[in-house]
Amino acid sequence: MAEEPVLAVRGLGKSYPLPGGGRLTAARDISFTLPSGGSIGVVGESGSGKTTVARMLVGLVRPDTGSVAVAGRERVGAPVRGAAARLARARELQMVFQDPYTSLDPRLTARQCLLTALRLHGRDRETAGARAAELLDQVGLGAREAGARPHGLSGGQRQRLAIARALAVDPRVLVLDEAVAALDVSIQAQILQLLGEIRRQTGVALVFVSHDLAVVRHITDETLVMRRGRAVEQGPTARVLAQPADPYTRALLASVPTAEGWDPAEAAHAARGARS
Ligand code: ADP
Ligand code: MG
Repeated sequence: MAEEPVLAVRGLGKSYPLPGGGRLTAARDISFTLPSGGSIGVVGESGSGKTTVARMLVGLVRPDTGSVAVAGRERVGAPVRGAAARLARARELQMVFQDPYTSLDPRLTARQCLLTALRLHGRDRETAGARAAELLDQVGLGAREAGARPHGLSGGQRQRLAIARALAVDPRVLVLDEAVAALDVSIQAQILQLLGEIRRQTGVALVFVSHDLAVVRHITDETLVMRRGRAVEQGPTARVLAQPADPYTRALLASVPTAEGWDPAEAAHAARGARS
C-alpha cells in the first residue's frame, strides 16, 4: 500500500467579486499531493494565483471549493474548537513570507523570537532554551545574530530567522511564498541550499511558491505551473523543465537564464506563442 501523503490538496478554487460585476477566478481546481519530505514548486507569472493557493493551504484564505488534508486530516471546513486545537492545527502547516521584516517583532532578538514561538506552543522554559539554540544552529545563525533584533540582521539572516521560527513548531509542511525573491542571487542560493538540508534532516515537506522557475528547479521534485488561476502543467520538475508540454511553461523557461546564457529573442518569441 502506498504511504499516505502528508499533504493532499484536491480541487482548490477561489474567486473574488470584480468591482464592475462578475468574478475573477484567482484559483481553479488546483490539486496535488506531497509525500513526507517531498517538495513541489508552484510557479507562474505575477497574478497567476500562487499566493491565493498558498494562503488557502495555511488557512489564511477560505477556499470556495476543494479540500486540504494533512496526514489524512481535513483542514478546510472541519470545525476547530479551543485554543489548543487551533494551535495544534497551526503547527501542521507553517508559512514563510517574502518579507520577514513585516512578520518579525522588531522588539525581540532572534533568540527571544524563537523562545516566544516555542513557549506559545507549550514548551517549558528549560527545553525551550535548548531547542532555540538548536534551531539557530540549524539555520546557521551565530551568537551575534542570536542577540540581534530584526533591524540588526541582513535580509538573508532575517529569512533564516523566519525559517527557524516556522520550524520551531515541528510542522509537517512548510509553505514558502516568494521566500527568496527579495534576496541577492548568491544569498538566494544559500537559503535554497539550507532548505534542502532541512528537508533531508527533518522530513518536512516544502511547497515552494515562486514566479522564478530558476529558483524552484534545483530544490523541488514536482512542479505545478499556474496561469490565470489554473494549473496548465504539472509533473516531475525534471520532466516539466526538459519537455514542457504547455507553451506557457516554455515561455517561462525561455525567460530563465541558463549556464549558456539566454536568448532574449527566443524568450520573446515563446512568450508570444503562449499568449496566442
Ligand atoms: P500571484 O501570487 O501569482 O501573484 P495572487 O494569488 O496574489 O497571484 O492573485 C491572483 C489574482 O487574484 C490576481 O488577479 C489578484 O489581483 C487577485 N486577488 C488576490 N487576492 C485578492 C483579494 N483579496 N481580493 C480581490 N482580488 C484578489
Ligand atoms: Mg504572490
